[in-house]
Amino acid sequence: MLYKSRTKPVELKQLSSLDTRMTLPSKDKQYFINLSRGYEGEVLFDSLTEKLTCDCLLLNDLLLKANNSLFQIDSLLISSRKIHLFEVKNFEGDYNYETNRFVKLPQYEITNPLHQLSRSESLLRQLLLKDNINLPIEASLIFINPEFTLYQAPLNKPMIFPTQIKNYLSELNSTPSNLNEKHKRLADKLVSLHIEEPPYKQLPSYTYEDLQKGITCSACKSFSTVIAGRRLVCKECAHEEMAAAAVVRAVEEFKLLFPEHKITTRRIHEWCRVVQYQKRIRKVLDDNYIKRGTNRWAYYE
Ligand SMILES: [Zn+2]
Repeated sequence: MLYKSRTKPVELKQLSSLDTRMTLPSKDKQYFINLSRGYEGEVLFDSLTEKLTCDCLLLNDLLLKANNSLFQIDSLLISSRKIHLFEVKNFEGDYNYETNRFVKLPQYEITNPLHQLSRSESLLRQLLLKDNINLPIEASLIFINPEFTLYQAPLNKPMIFPTQIKNYLSELNSTPSNLNEKHKRLADKLVSLHIEEPPYKQLPSYTYEDLQKGITCSACKSFSTVIAGRRLVCKECAHEEMAAAAVVRAVEEFKLLFPEHKITTRRIHEWCRVVQYQKRIRKVLDDNYIKRGTNRWAYYE
């Protein structure tokens, strides 16, 4: 049973929006690509674990702190006899395992994900021991991408490869499990300890002036959109969306990128660019947000 669901990280939403509105510096672009791939892999794994029917509690995406160290858990599954901790990797291509090192062929060494896994496992154990919870933890690396190969993979490491995931999960599903109040309390405890907003983000610096204005197409991200009557129409892919909904989407994107800026009719009119009249923007803001102040000092929350 899904106990805590995954949401798209704010940092990823911000980078995704910035990527359409400015040219990301190459290191930020690479970081954005990695973050999106990682997220896609996690979502793909969620689509498999959500089919589990055993008596278990599934907690996706936890950011926790133990001994002053932050650690992130992609997926955690509580069954009656153990806690499964899953670290999901969406690696693609050919890798080689060389005595504790992961090398992307031909010769690019990456941080060994097994180290990250054992760090998370150890920190989770410390966190649980503080509450006298001593359910065994079984930590596994899940390689979700079907295009992934690891040469010289050792047999004795907790790694589950793309061709094994289905069997692994069906075995887990058929393992008898009977949860009680104690397990539910554990799940509640972990959810309550979850840190909603990560303390650090890796965003490039940007200003309002730097960014391209306009409402992007919700299907293809193109800026080639026009208002046609009550709709926003994309000239690239012909996708249509109600104009009011598109403006709200643009406002939400503005809030995401500029949380400290006030939302005013003028600002949003300029931000959306494609809506001809300010009064139309004002109507959407009136309908969807709370108005503060009056006349030219009015803004929305
Ligand atoms: Zn489009």
